[in-house]
Amino acid sequence: MSKFTNQTVIVTGGTRGIGRGISESFLKEGATVIATYARNDEAAMNFKENMSLYGDKLILKKFDVSSMLACENFFNEIEKEISSIEILVNNSGIRQDNLTASMSEDQWDKVLDINLKGSFNMSQKAVLHMMKNRYGRIVNISSIGGALGLAGQANYAASKAGQIALSKVLSKEVAKRKITVNNVAPGFIETELISDLDEAQVTEYKKTIPMKRFGSIDEVANVVKFLASKEASYITGSTIEVSGGL
Ligand code: NAP
Repeated sequence: MSKFTNQTVIVTGGTRGIGRGISESFLKEGATVIATYARNDEAAMNFKENMSLYGDKLILKKFDVSSMLACENFFNEIEKEISSIEILVNNSGIRQDNLTASMSEDQWDKVLDINLKGSFNMSQKAVLHMMKNRYGRIVNISSIGGALGLAGQANYAASKAGQIALSKVLSKEVAKRKITVNNVAPGFIETELISDLDEAQVTEYKKTIPMKRFGSIDEVANVVKFLASKEASYITGSTIEVSGGL
């Protein structure tokens, strides 16, 4: 028996980047994984093909986490197919950087809606389900950006700090039901999300990181798996930074 055999994990944004790595690592440990995505069918199909070894253990669902109605429909649908959901990883996220003085209302709203409201929408529906089972693990993929406050990231930093605040509150509300709510705050991880950084910026950022390198997807996934495991039973409302010491 692997560590997550007989457990079902929802990974939002679970078909690309960090989320794909998280989905894959849970599949390797015997879990059934519901990997969600919003638009990129090609990446999702490519992931499904690459993971064909796991057959029906990988389920893909396409919807926008920023829509409460879409999240509700998703939970109604999967509750017909799956008897219990043990783990939710709120990983979906976007960046739309701009200086605060120039940031449009749309840039502010989009980032907050997907990164923060998406975590709220999914967590609310998941805890209703987990409370019935008196067991659950919620892990939000926040970011070190929430604490660093890099120029140009008012929307992103607010959304990422907001996820930490949300989980502090929620962790207290559901602690008695054996549901934990934690965050992983990555630093710079090599994915498409930061592929817009030019070489000079990458060199500059790496100089500021004590470990002098960006992190890997696996280095994030390993910590997510720990927080989602039964062993992490006395950790809740916490944030683990995976940032090379930033
Ligand atoms: P990524 O490669 O750009 O992937 C983002 C994922 O989020 C994709 O699967 C995307 O779906 C999904 N998504 C976007 N909008 C969505 C929506 N409205 N509804 C549902 N899903 C949506 O990003 P990443 O680097 O893996 O980042 C994953 C998480 O880690 C994010 O929360 C990010 O803030 C956080 N993070 C990343 C870094 C980093 O350096 N990479 C550092 C710190 C924190 P589609 O495939 O359909 O587009």
